[in-house]
Amino acid sequence: MTALRPAEKLLMELGITHPEEIDLEAIAWTLGAAVRFRPLDKSEATIVGSEKRAIITVNCTSLPVRQRFSLGHEIGHWHHHRGRVLFCGPRDIGNPAHRSLDPEHQADRFASDLILPGYMFGPRIVKMKRLSLSDIGEIAEEFNASRTATLIRLVESNRFPIMAVCHGQQKRSWFQRAPMIPNWWFPNEELDHESIAFELLFGGASESNYPRTIGADAWFHFRGADRYEVKEQSFLLPGDEVLTLLILPEEGLE
Ligand SMILES: [Zn+2]
Repeated sequence: MTALRPAEKLLMELGITHPEEIDLEAIAWTLGAAVRFRPLDKSEATIVGSEKRAIITVNCTSLPVRQRFSLGHEIGHWHHHRGRVLFCGPRDIGNPAHRSLDPEHQADRFASDLILPGYMFGPRIVKMKRLSLSDIGEIAEEFNASRTATLIRLVESNRFPIMAVCHGQQKRSWFQRAPMIPNWWFPNEELDHESIAFELLFGGASESNYPRTIGADAWFHFRGADRYEVKEQSFLLPGDEVLTLLILPEEGLE
């Protein structure tokens, strides 16, 4: 068993054992931070506070799962960066492109552990029978999380040979792969015209119900990629981005 991270330790200390018990406003309160929901223009959430007390403001015009992640992120700032005033813009919260020492990354890590704690998430994914976006969506609903956050957690769990790859209209914005996947599985910068992600982003296609099989060379350029097939399933994100779940073949991992 891996060591508990700060957010997971906090949940354990509060005796929380089920996802529906993770009440972020109550948790913030026990830590000395009051939460209010207001329309915010240039920010998803802010925190102002002294050493002991803080006020977190969350943008109430965003989607509920987004608000929840933003609140988790600010509680993360409160834990890690107490005493600072922080305005977190839309690109600051829930952005896997941040580097690991970046305070925004630390706050995202905290939010993810708080909303999808390993000691509840691990046992849940053991019960997964299939790997598709609808299965991921089911778990996301149980944990009151976004599909994106849930997919990233699933990739990190290293239970499946999967990657999450996000593209904007110009190029790839970030990707994350399960630690078991060798480095040569490095996704292309640009979307292939044959990919579902391309159809969704540029062709107005709708989301498919199941992952589809495609030649691995549509997604990867390493020598011999054309010998493999991968499964892909994509969904659109706000801001003209598309997120793809890629399932790699077991034989390609050796
Ligand atoms: Zn932040």
